[in-house]
Amino acid sequence: MEPEAFRQAAREVADWAARYREQVDEHPVLARVEPGEVASRLAASPPEEPEPFADILDDVERVVLPGITHWNHPGFFAYFASSSSAPALLAEFVAAALGGNAMLWRTSPAATEMEERTVDWLRQWVHLPEAFRGVILDTASTSSFTALLAAREETGLDVRRRGMAGRADLPPLTAYVSDQTHSSLEKAAIAAGIGQERVRRVPTDDRFRLRPDALREAMEEDRDAGRLPFFVCATVGTTSTTSADPVAPVADVCEEQDAWLHVDAAYAGPAAALPERRDLFAGWERADSVVINPHKWLFTPMDCSVFLFRDDEAVRRSLALTPEYLSSGEEGATNLMDYGLPLGRRFRALKLWFLFRFFGGDGLRERLRAHLDWTGDFVRWIEEDPRFERTAPAPFSTVCFRTKPPEETAGDEVGRETVNDWNRRLLSEVNREGSVFLSHTVLDGTYTLRLAVGSIHHRRQDVRRAYERLVEARERLARGADG
Ligand SMILES: *Cc1c(COP(=O)(O)O)cnc(C)c1O
Repeated sequence: MEPEAFRQAAREVADWAARYREQVDEHPVLARVEPGEVASRLAASPPEEPEPFADILDDVERVVLPGITHWNHPGFFAYFASSSSAPALLAEFVAAALGGNAMLWRTSPAATEMEERTVDWLRQWVHLPEAFRGVILDTASTSSFTALLAAREETGLDVRRRGMAGRADLPPLTAYVSDQTHSSLEKAAIAAGIGQERVRRVPTDDRFRLRPDALREAMEEDRDAGRLPFFVCATVGTTSTTSADPVAPVADVCEEQDAWLHVDAAYAGPAAALPERRDLFAGWERADSVVINPHKWLFTPMDCSVFLFRDDEAVRRSLALTPEYLSSGEEGATNLMDYGLPLGRRFRALKLWFLFRFFGGDGLRERLRAHLDWTGDFVRWIEEDPRFERTAPAPFSTVCFRTKPPEETAGDEVGRETVNDWNRRLLSEVNREGSVFLSHTVLDGTYTLRLAVGSIHHRRQDVRRAYERLVEARERLARGADG
């Protein structure tokens, strides 16, 4: 592409993106395509002849858009938000223009040093101690996997060199999570050769928080049976209900048991920047590692997961490996490839740098506070409405709730399956309408709807709309049920 043609095409893409962002709420938030529909509109083989750029861009509109579930739609309340703030989106463009690969310091000095600096900005902003440093990885799944590998090496069993298979000297390594912990921890144990069966799911209390007494008991029991407890994951902001495990007493147990403490704050981490929420994080400063995903509640497009750790050497010991053709000799330079599985690395730090500079730490806190306020409003609306019931505490910006079927509001006993089925149908009804998208979870056998605030595009009226759409969908269902 000639420079002038590139300039023109880049302007067109910028115009397209600006228009898309302005008009995103004209699309149904949840894609209305059947499996295979998008594929059927794509050429089965790669084109042999060049095509005009304008045609390609046109097909974004024609082929791609109908198959998009719009995460940047203000009605997106499912899972946890992942939204593209303008500065972070533009940083992606700049990063792609620069291209490059931040594997070694010398292959991208700026990307390397900015990654170290922006991770430190985030660390300061969430008030973690200076002892932590970190890197940016693609996802929390990768960050937690990296933590598990470091912990495995910390056992001193030299698994890195000798492997695990066929070793009579190796006690079964056991990892501990709660019954609410994200599935990525179990996956990490699968990949690290620990084995799914060696991940103990410790029970939680009536507010879905890991029970430190049950953790201690499980670890002692395993130790007595000749197993080696080596890794514990506490979560602040669990995926179903956003419950916060009591990290301080968990850290006490980890200290007693000499186990690695990993804190998964993939979603809720940014809330540690708010003094009024910091008590939910008490003790996380004692962790060996922490993960926070700016691509969740910090307005950064996929992907950006910050993996923080205390012991630099522990992480390097588990994965650093330098073949001759990558050896470089700069004194005092960090080679980021030493801190994870991937060799090649994107310039993700640019997104955090743009984000923090554009909004400022204060501006980011202001947006989080607004989200917490609107979440509080939503909680109030459903608590004051006899047709709804909250199913879990809402410590952050996510609410778990259900609606009551008409028989129940009329005072009749209704079985759990009937209630579950009613809520399942209600969710599909509200999502079908197209202006909001919510997701679900199951809590102690109760089918539960979930509303997660946290997108840069959310406004109070969008949260209100979600409530109204729920009420309307319920009325439609109730009418359908009557007639
Ligand atoms: C979303 C989430 C994850 C997984 O995040 P990825 O970045 O998609 O791997 C892990 N833990 C928690 C608590 C999460 O909310």
